[in-house]
Amino acid sequence: MFTDQLLTCVDCGQEFTFTAGEQEFFAQKGFTNKPSRCPDCRRARKAQRSNGGVVFDARPSGPREMFRVVCSECGNEAEVPFQPRGDKPVYCRACFQRQRSRV
Ligand SMILES: [Zn+2]
Ligand SMILES: [Zn+2]
Repeated sequence: MFTDQLLTCVDCGQEFTFTAGEQEFFAQKGFTNKPSRCPDCRRARKAQRSNGGVVFDARPSGPREMFRVVCSECGNEAEVPFQPRGDKPVYCRACFQRQRSRV
């Protein structure tokens, strides 16, 4: 079960409670990161962002680094959010989805 945790906000330095209910919500969403900001700062950031949509700031570390690869299937250039390993084939989005649907 989840228990309340005391976390420190990276923006204002205030301690805030990461409640059991929020932890459960995070777990349901598949988020493994803890929130790094208090609800106030989270709300402020959300208000700043005009595009909206994202309720919880689960990835505070900025945009993910993308790696340029050549798809092993079709040879097209693609960008993947992970460092490709030489011993594993990498696929562009379309081929990746085709691979998955095949299994
Ligand atoms: Zn804060
Ligand atoms: Zn491909």
